[in-house]
Amino acid sequence: MHELAIARDLIDMTRRHVPEERLAQVEVVRLRVGSLAGVVESSLLFCFEALVRGTALDSARLEIDAIPIRARCADCQTDFELPGSLFQCPDCGGGALALLSGNELDLQEIVLADLAPEAT
Ligand SMILES: [Zn+2]
Repeated sequence: MHELAIARDLIDMTRRHVPEERLAQVEVVRLRVGSLAGVVESSLLFCFEALVRGTALDSARLEIDAIPIRARCADCQTDFELPGSLFQCPDCGGGALALLSGNELDLQEIVLADLAPEAT
């Protein structure tokens, strides 16, 4: 899978956002992951931990906010949460859906020790 690449990207982004001398203060790196992004959470956590071990980011912890798949039906304008990969309106059975969320793979925030969260 691509979890290793994602973990690397996250660490790169963290290093770009946080000055070198404060990397050791990074407590939490929070990521928003949509259900459609195809990320295996446990695998991503494992890769992240393996990559930061022994580096300035050793104490950083990855937190993952899972974002459900939401869509809007073009026929009846209903917004709903999709239970899985079945792309059909639960109200009218229509298949013309616009995806509202579920593809997210965004760095949401980086939390430093003893400081307010740094917006990204
Ligand atoms: Zn509908």
